[in-house]
Amino acid sequence: MRNLFFVLLLLVSSLLSAQQYDIVLAGGRVIDPETGLDAVRNVGILGGKIAKISDAPLNGRRVIHVSGLVVAPGFIDLHQHAQDLASQRVKACDGVTTALEMEIGAPDVTKFLQEKQGRSIINYGTTASHLAARALVFGAPLPEGTILPKSGPATDQQATPEQINQIQNRLREQLNAGALGIGMGIAYSPGATRLEIIDMFGVAAERKLPVYTHMRSAGHVEPGSAIESTEEVIGAAAISGASLHIVHINSTCLKDSLECLSLIEGARAHGIDVTTEAYPYIAGMTAINSAVFNPGWQEKLGISYDSLVIPNTGEHLTKARFDELHHSSKEQWVLIYGNTQAMIDKIIPNPPVMIASDGAVGHPRNAGTYSRVLAQYVREKKSLTLIEALRKMTLMPAQMLERSTPEARHKGRLQEGADADIVVFDPQTISDRATFEKPMEPSVGVHHLLVGGTVLIDDGKMVQGVFPGKAVVGPGKGR
Ligand SMILES: [Zn+2]
Repeated sequence: MRNLFFVLLLLVSSLLSAQQYDIVLAGGRVIDPETGLDAVRNVGILGGKIAKISDAPLNGRRVIHVSGLVVAPGFIDLHQHAQDLASQRVKACDGVTTALEMEIGAPDVTKFLQEKQGRSIINYGTTASHLAARALVFGAPLPEGTILPKSGPATDQQATPEQINQIQNRLREQLNAGALGIGMGIAYSPGATRLEIIDMFGVAAERKLPVYTHMRSAGHVEPGSAIESTEEVIGAAAISGASLHIVHINSTCLKDSLECLSLIEGARAHGIDVTTEAYPYIAGMTAINSAVFNPGWQEKLGISYDSLVIPNTGEHLTKARFDELHHSSKEQWVLIYGNTQAMIDKIIPNPPVMIASDGAVGHPRNAGTYSRVLAQYVREKKSLTLIEALRKMTLMPAQMLERSTPEARHKGRLQEGADADIVVFDPQTISDRATFEKPMEPSVGVHHLLVGGTVLIDDGKMVQGVFPGKAVVGPGKGR
């Protein structure tokens, strides 16, 4: 009897090991922040999914030996503006397999999705843009290729009740087209009243979708402080029932970031669904002709002209140069040196803070955010453990994304049945190389990157001619 059992066991295990996978990642340190797995395992990938995680050897048409390297879920960036191929390449080198435009949103969701279909190396998706809808209703649609309106009547004036209806209807159309929620850059539309904001949260709540927001105001000065702005959006979430994600708390709350975080934790403790994110740099960046630079910005941000720097050239602005650029219709982006390293060092390890890059061409955060966190906070300062850092880059954003689509349950996890979006990196060497002088320098240390089971980075080199990126869409599509 006992012998028969062992014969059967042998038979079953040989049948199982006969299974051939498309790819096997063999002998890596496999980390999954959800289950807490952190052990040497073999990972079998079949049909774009993680089919098997085992400590026994697995057969694969291709076996990639990754011993000594970390095998983790590919990073999910909830906040990526630049969606061009060059930016996607540097994101991939930084370990990112999904990069979504959630803060502001695409002006036209159908067009966004069509343009990227079959031409994207990493996964993509977007929210519906309140700013673009508002600009359209005010008769000043955003110029092609831009996401932020120039400061003017469409940003600074209050909307009539009729206009608010029209903006809401435009957003409903965009949600029907596959948007993942509503993106609201409230700082870029100071004319939007508190009631307009609540009405837009109402549209998100109708569809049980989240709102992502760049809050109304930065800085310390009352009224109009970052604290007041945090109260505004937490209030709108509480009133409407929509989930809320506050983007880049580092660049909006500045020296009040820890107080903003305590407001978020307080709201969460009392049942409001609010989350947040940060990126690990002292400077922000935005369009200089936007309403963020309407009169009063110096007092609000606690900085002056000299703290504004043109990317690449390093030119510090003067009043004359500022006036010229602020009044121009050309969308020049400018770096804003508004935070301190000491504050960033407190924000990044803070438990509720996810990592998201706010990636845009001209700022090193586009290329270096994730590697920089792994290098500086895990390896050098040791203020985060590796699995905690990975949780902020994978599981937490995936769980946020689950508010928009059940497909996200298969992302941000290194588990059987999950999508094979996987990063394989060397924890001893992974580093950002992008600087304010050279913002598009790709990070180093990612040895392999798989998107939906397709190898995109192979032994440190980008594979050319493959476009495995897929759309991540909300429930409106196909309604
Ligand atoms: Zn922003």
